Amino acid sequence: MDSFIKSIKKLIKPSNICEECNYTCNTINFQRNFENWISGNGYIDKFIQDTQLLAHENIKEVLEWIPYDRFYNITKSGFELYKAYWIDGNIYNWNDKNQNWNRNNNMIVTLKRINNLKNIALEFMNEIKIDHEFYGITQNPETNNYMMVLNDKCKICNYVCNAIHFQQNFINWTSGNDDIDKFIQDIQLSVHYQKKALEWMPYDRFNNTIKSKFCKTYITKWIDGKTKLGKI
Ligand SMILES: [Zn+2]
Ligand SMILES: [Zn+2]
Repeated sequence: MDSFIKSIKKLIKPSNICEECNYTCNTINFQRNFENWISGNGYIDKFIQDTQLLAHENIKEVLEWIPYDRFYNITKSGFELYKAYWIDGNIYNWNDKNQNWNRNNNMIVTLKRINNLKNIALEFMNEIKIDHEFYGITQNPETNNYMMVLNDKCKICNYVCNAIHFQQNFINWTSGNDDIDKFIQDIQLSVHYQKKALEWMPYDRFNNTIKSKFCKTYITKWIDGKTKLGKI
């Protein structure tokens, strides 16, 4: 009788409702997209799909197939390791209005070569996940190598915290003075989850500078979006 009711329910319910969650959960949104991507390897397709089918309300363990042309500025960073910018970035939730995923655009990630596809599930469980967030799999079209798309987890916070984001950006700035660089970097490496940290701000990032006659205060509008009031 139960199975009869279930099959009737299936007929009545539109297919975009998850039987487990009773609404259009993450799993349904991933499932709808299955026909729009293919890795070219059945084992990887299944591996990725399985993580997406388990998503329901939690997308933390989800993997995606990420075409290699979604990465730029790919540079070698170690043995079988590369740093790259990922245009789309990882998913953090579903946007109902846009009917698409909200993502952390232009994020820095690590690409790590997968040597044996058969081991990937085991590798993922035992080794990679301890120190990394695992976002998906890609394939270098020149070498045909499959690669994991990862990010380093902070050893203190156990996720990709502010300190990690700052550290990834160290190569993109210098004050021109090693002591000042070190001073700012040390503070940035200690912030973890607080919002405020020191930044090196090049003078050309300020515009509309108005100098007050009396207290040498500059009201500046910082191009990057914050309004600052301070002495220079
Ligand atoms: Zn569900
Ligand atoms: Zn941290």
